[in-house]
Formats: sequence, C-alpha cells, structure tokens
Amino acid sequence: MSQYWNALVAKLEPYVPGEQPKDQRYIKLNTNENPYSPSPKALTAIQAEAGAALRLYPDPEGVVLKEAIAAVHGVDTQQVFVGNGSDEVLAHIFHALFQADKPVAFPDISYSFYPVYAHLYELQTQTVALRADFSLNVADFPVNNGGIIFPNPNAPTGCAIGLDALEQLLQQYTNSVVVVDEAYVDFGADTAIPLIQRYPNLLVVQTLSKAYSLAGLRVGFAIGQAHLMSALERVKNSFNSFPLGRMALAGAAAAIRDRAYWEQTRQQVMATRQQTVMVLEQLGFTVLPSMANFVLARPPDGNAEGLYQALKQSGILVRYFNKPRIQDYVRITIGTDEEMAALFAALQPLAEVEAW
Ligand code: PMP
Repeated sequence: MSQYWNALVAKLEPYVPGEQPKDQRYIKLNTNENPYSPSPKALTAIQAEAGAALRLYPDPEGVVLKEAIAAVHGVDTQQVFVGNGSDEVLAHIFHALFQADKPVAFPDISYSFYPVYAHLYELQTQTVALRADFSLNVADFPVNNGGIIFPNPNAPTGCAIGLDALEQLLQQYTNSVVVVDEAYVDFGADTAIPLIQRYPNLLVVQTLSKAYSLAGLRVGFAIGQAHLMSALERVKNSFNSFPLGRMALAGAAAAIRDRAYWEQTRQQVMATRQQTVMVLEQLGFTVLPSMANFVLARPPDGNAEGLYQALKQSGILVRYFNKPRIQDYVRITIGTDEEMAALFAALQPLAEVEAW
C-alpha cells in the first residue's frame, strides 16, 4: 500500500486469473482455453491486417465485427456491443447498467470476477446459494436487486439451466437488468439470444476466448435491445474509444463467420468431455454434469488440493479453488484427446497409491 493510492484502490481485492507459469512446459488444463488452433481463416485475416494499415486507428465502432455477430445470431447490429474480451464487456455492464442503491445478485458459486467489478464500481452485492447439487433455482434471486448476473453454463461448476427456467426468471424479475454470461454456451447449453427481442432487460454476453480458440486476441460481445447497447457505448466512449485493434476486429469477424470450423472444434471438445467424464467416474471421481469445456470433479478422497499439487508435479495444471463448497473439487479443462490421456495416465498411479 502506498500513500499515493486513493481510498478505493486501497480496499480493492483484484481478480486472480489461473496461473500461467513460465518455469516449464505444462499440459494446461487450468484456464479453460480451447486446445485447438483458431480458425485458419481467422489467422489469415489477422495476418492481412499486420501491415501498413496498423498506423491508422481501428474503427471505433467495430462495425465489421458487429455485422458478423449480428448475421450469425439473427439480430440487428444496433443490438450488438463488442469489447476487449468479455471481461471488459462485463465491466462496462456493471458500470453502466447495475444500480448502486440495491445489491447486485449472483450465485454463491460463480465467476469470481463479479464481486471484483462490483467493488470497483462501488456496488453492493448479494449472493444466492446454489442448491446442494449446485443447480440454480432462478426463483431464489432477491426481488429487490440492482441487477442479476450469472454464467450459463455456470463456472466453475459447468451446470446449465434451460431456456424455460430462464424465461421464468425474466418474467419474474423485470425491474433490473438480467445478464446471462454465456462464455461457455457453445459446448452444449442453449443460448438466450432469441429471447432478447421479448425481454427489454435481458443482456447476453459471449466471448471468442473459448469456442473460437481466441483467448489471446481478447474479443467479447454483448447482445441485447438497442437501449441497453447505448448505455454500454456511453461508458465505452467515456473510457477507451478503441478497445479492439485492427487485428482483433478482422480476426474475430473471420472466426465468427467460419461456422464449419467452430462446429468441428466444439464437437471435438464435447466428445472429449464425454470420454473424460467416463474415465474420471471409473476412477471414483464425482463429476458434476457439465455443458462447458471443463468439468468440476471431486477425487474419491476429497483431497483436491493434494491432487492439484501431485498433478502439477507431473507437469499437468488443473485449477483448485480454496473456497467454501468447492474446496474438495478440481476444475479440469477439456484438452485434446492426447492431453487427457496424459491426465488419465498421471491419475492411474495416484489412484493406486491413494487406494481410491
Ligand atoms: N465469463 C466467465 C464465466 C469466464 O469464465 C470467463 C473466463 N475467465 C470470462 C467471462 C472472461 O473471458 P474473456 O475475457 O476471455 O472473454
């Protein structure tokens, strides 16, 4: 702490991303990256931008990308907002659309950036306990709230709710903005995008970091009615007019348009997930039902921290959260079949030594 920090900064508790160690090469199953390369068409588009045009600012509106997103999702370009990763989009939502006089509500187990943004923008929070099986009861959100946000599928559980439950929620909570964070939706859950035309308070957030393999490009977006988008544009244009560079805009637009590649890689991830769940269950793990590119799994002895350490020693990184309710679980990102085979090979001797 420094005497030059202001009072807000002094009391922030910043988000801690999954480790990206540089000391050795690990099999990285800890940050929900996609194991496959981005679409070759996206890479070509990025390379085409890496020339003299970089001396010029990019389009502050990101129209090329908004058009690609709007076309794929059957919405109007006025209903799309783009940002530097969905984290930035989420930050602007907290800033622009959540109210400070009532608590912002989210599940007790969900994306740990939500409380961080709430504190940054000096909003109150209220958590809603998931059921014992980690499912979300949409009727549990407080009636008086300054906004509702949750991931669907949830992170780090992987559990998803269906559109019927979501509609029930939207019919009940009409006074504040409801944000569905769909970072992982492409791995098997239903998107809420078709509902935006009927619900003026619904915002859907997606990212190119997971299903499009572009975590390194930093592109995310929100879809909702135009009046919500205008609020986000106001905050964005009061913060950074050019959040996406030329390479990001061109690469993301090309990736979004390449439906065949997106379909192929997400199907591969889902097939590997199915295989992973089977093997983990055979080893005695309890695995939560996942619609994401990761699984939350409890080793038979509940010593998740020990398992995380042992796997790290064998060169495999998974994510361990030392948090209530999930401290017995590790989160394992779905990698390639070869990476998962290496995980299974590392788990086998552990299963014998630990007598699982
Ligand atoms: N939402 C959820 C639920 C996430 O897990 C993540 C990834 N950490 C994000 C949003 C942000 O992803 P990005 O900023 O890469 O789009």
